[in-house]
Amino acid sequence: MTGSSYVGRFAPSPSGPLHLGSLLAAVASFLDARAHAGLWLVRMEDLDPPREQTGAADEILTQLQHFGLAWDKDVLYQSQRLDAYAAALMQLANEGLCFRCQCTRSALREHGNVYSGQCRHRGLSARDLQYADKHPSGSDAAVRVRVTDETYALQDRIQGLYSQNLASEAGDFVVRRKDRLFAYQLAVVVDDAYQGITDIVRGIDLLDSTPRQLYLQHCLGYGTPRYAHVPIIVDAAGDKLSKQSFAPPLQPERAQEQLHQCLDLLGLSPPRTLINSSVESILAWGVEHWDIQAVPKLATLRSPQSS
Ligand code: GLU
Repeated sequence: MTGSSYVGRFAPSPSGPLHLGSLLAAVASFLDARAHAGLWLVRMEDLDPPREQTGAADEILTQLQHFGLAWDKDVLYQSQRLDAYAAALMQLANEGLCFRCQCTRSALREHGNVYSGQCRHRGLSARDLQYADKHPSGSDAAVRVRVTDETYALQDRIQGLYSQNLASEAGDFVVRRKDRLFAYQLAVVVDDAYQGITDIVRGIDLLDSTPRQLYLQHCLGYGTPRYAHVPIIVDAAGDKLSKQSFAPPLQPERAQEQLHQCLDLLGLSPPRTLINSSVESILAWGVEHWDIQAVPKLATLRSPQSS
């Protein structure tokens, strides 16, 4: 390892095994990290037990190993980080940015897609939050963070300039759910800062979450990493390959072929014969030829299996 300060990460949710869509994001972040002689970390986003599949976290790690995607350091499990999220929430509450929201799903639907601030007046001081935590019975409310009428913008390394007005396009958003689980938006920001992540390479389905993450970074006094959002893979019907839509899991016996497909989808034009090499050699070729400018500036790519 050189003295590179690059730290990247892959952050799967263990709701099922990896499929070709998640492999594409893993490979892109791995290649970008290695091409920068940087570290590549794995973080298991196991924050949402009701959506998890037993054994999926271990299965994902086994899949990564099969595909030659060797990570640095120990895997960080979000389920072990609840105190850090609670501390961040307390910090937001101390700054007067949080409020309790008891809106039902149907009330939220009536108000449209963007939360219109109907519970803002309730507020939630750090003291109230502490009290509610000690007396859980009386606190079946989500905690939202209030946003400002400001535009947050990022220069995405693949997609270019992306901006969003938080008030009109995102609205006050949930940082701790009614069932007391911390929300992805809060946990991801706390952990990206904790792990010293400098570069995030992930699927474009998370691009519209990024301005909210920039906002939380700002509120919590963290730095902002660089971002690159790669296209997501869709099936023949145009639906995102996902665990929820039962995308087929990666097939270890087809690891070379599936890695080759990823390099191809990422615009690197790998030679056909590369498919006969070991997974390590395929990835080494990818590192050597990595060019983020070659990644298609598109939202979706058709799955090679469905064409
Ligand atoms: N855990 C998220 C997912 O599996 C990814 C989070 C991220 O990369 O920020 O979709």
